[in-house]
Amino acid sequence: MLQGLMMDTPLLVGSLIDHAARWHGDREIVTHRTGRPDHRYSYRDARARSARLAHALRQRLGIGSGDRIATFAWNSYRHFELYFGVSGIGAVLHTVNPRLFTQQIEYIINHAGDRYVFVDVDLVPILEALAPKLPLVDGYVVLAEEGAMPATGLPNAIAYEALIRDLPEEIQWPVFDERLASSLCYTSGTTGNPKGVLYSHRSTLLHTFAATAALSVSRRTFDAILPVVPMFHANAWGLPYVAAMVGAKFVLCDPHLDPSQLYESLEREGVTLTCGVPTIWLRMLDYLRSNGLRLNTVEALCCGGAAPPRSMIAAFEEEFGITFLNAWGMTESSPVCTTGIPRREHDAMPQRIDYKTRAGRCIFGVEMLLVDDDENELPMDGSAQGELLIRGPWIAAGYYNDAGATNAGITADGWLRTGDIASVDHQGYVTIRDRSKDVIKSGGEWISSVDLENAAVAHPGVLEAAAVGIPHPTWSERPLLVIVPKPGVRLEREEIRSFLDGRIPKWWMPDDVVFVDELPHTATGKISKRSLRESFANGGVPARR
Ligand code: ADP
Repeated sequence: MLQGLMMDTPLLVGSLIDHAARWHGDREIVTHRTGRPDHRYSYRDARARSARLAHALRQRLGIGSGDRIATFAWNSYRHFELYFGVSGIGAVLHTVNPRLFTQQIEYIINHAGDRYVFVDVDLVPILEALAPKLPLVDGYVVLAEEGAMPATGLPNAIAYEALIRDLPEEIQWPVFDERLASSLCYTSGTTGNPKGVLYSHRSTLLHTFAATAALSVSRRTFDAILPVVPMFHANAWGLPYVAAMVGAKFVLCDPHLDPSQLYESLEREGVTLTCGVPTIWLRMLDYLRSNGLRLNTVEALCCGGAAPPRSMIAAFEEEFGITFLNAWGMTESSPVCTTGIPRREHDAMPQRIDYKTRAGRCIFGVEMLLVDDDENELPMDGSAQGELLIRGPWIAAGYYNDAGATNAGITADGWLRTGDIASVDHQGYVTIRDRSKDVIKSGGEWISSVDLENAAVAHPGVLEAAAVGIPHPTWSERPLLVIVPKPGVRLEREEIRSFLDGRIPKWWMPDDVVFVDELPHTATGKISKRSLRESFANGGVPARR
């Protein structure tokens, strides 16, 4: 055996903000807040304030290595400081999704054993109602100036700015084992209780390198990044870390943006890379077209979390000249596992957009396996379909304090079950056919809800569509199509069915088509198939948001 003779520098999250402040110190971090002036400062400022936060955590709150600190907050510069100040000292940043049901929030905070919760002012009332049921929480830090503190019944509440006041702006981050936990994020719990994914410093840094490489469309990609994804969901797809690694201008928006405000932010800040779920981009596309606008600086638009319709991809690519990256991943995988940067030769092909509809290509560091129901390996030939299993240094090896979920989610030889039904071709292009729980099972065969939705959204009058399986006495399930028409458009059931005729296999034809003003969305902004199934199984209408 011969050991390599290289430095064994641990991969730690604190080093990212050090790098950004040292070499990209004057690049801006911008926070847009509805109804208030923008907040602007630099990476140098962000590091100084992360350092003050780190001192406050240790000296004023008694936080040490391994303690969990929850955030209950939208995207903002203070949330960004927490990303580095908390993890930097070896504590664990637990980002809680404020859009979850209160029972889930209670479960998550108690299960994680969070010691403090850092909360945005407008979210204080949710926690006030829950606080008596959160016995492990020592106190609450409201993300505000002292003067902006609301009158609150939260126990041991203090303003963020008061907490970090008069503390040194310098810090030497402690050096520790890179395998220690850095952050914690619970899956949305669309089935059963939410499950905790506990990222390590090592997994986070390796994922950051990989995601950065996988998103580099051109030299300009990282001029300015705007994540439309929330910082409480899978670490905003790792973008705060990517931004610090590459020194990108980072634009943070609160989540209440409508397409016109998002458009404003993208244009004004010269955003070159932006990332979000398909619903956001469908609305943006409609907004651009109806107002005759273009996105003048966006080079790459990354879309993940659910399958984007082909017609939308084609529009962004061909009508607007924007590189559309379909990326696939999940909370358990940090999340990036694929991105849709095609092979060079595909660019010249007529099937170019078909490649783009696939959920990207497998990136280095991620291993993939396809299996059937009995866990026999299937060929990756582009047509065999089965459950996708994944493995790699930024993929969860288990769930935090949850042996049951770990046993169910991880195979005996250490693969994570994704719950996605996919096919993979020989070049590593992944096609997500469906989530195993959303696939429509009709007469012993599968109907892909994703393909059905894609076909429906190609109709010029359709804004958004969702296909769900409704119980059927003979076929077990039959597809129902729920459609949101574009504003001012009137559609009829038979018009949609005849549009679909010839575009889908005959037996996929939805038994019924219904029209609604809005589809229900999950806490992470995806269409909630579960609530649609529940509403329509009982003959009702879907719950409005
Ligand atoms: P949840 O949806 O429960 O909040 P995640 O955010 O972890 O949990 O979502 C991961 C899931 O999202 C994947 O397992 C997959 O079903 C779906 N998904 C993610 N990206 C894509 C994509 N590009 N195309 C299709 N489905 C996707």
